[in-house]
Amino acid sequence: MTLFEKIVARQIPANIIQEDDDFIVFHDINPQAPVHVLVVPKRPIPRLSHAKEEDAKLLGQLLLKAREIAKSLGIADSGFRVVINSGPDAGQQVPHLHLHLLGGRPLAWPPG
Ligand code: AMP
Repeated sequence: MTLFEKIVARQIPANIIQEDDDFIVFHDINPQAPVHVLVVPKRPIPRLSHAKEEDAKLLGQLLLKAREIAKSLGIADSGFRVVINSGPDAGQQVPHLHLHLLGGRPLAWPPG
């Protein structure tokens, strides 16, 4: 099981914001901004580069979920960033596709 599957199974604690059949959303344990939330599809695709054509609906829903959570956390108007790390050069730590939603302060660009 991946770390995030263990969070879904409540084997590891997390500060969960929302859960439905397809996604779990929780606060990142090591926040890089005032709002730093992870939106995680429950189906464990290891990384974005492993996604397939049949994952198109899920990937679209992932972005819409990020939009919904940004609205609910009050950062839709001030602005936010979504990040998906895929693979070693991106520093992906958890091999289970997830989206970082960051906001609540001005975010520098380019990222490191
Ligand atoms: P990534 O580097 O894109 O794989 O991101 C993994 C993220 O998971 C990091 O930002 C971690 O801080 C976060 N993380 C690791 N363990 C936990 C946990 N138990 N609860 C919440 N976030 C976690």
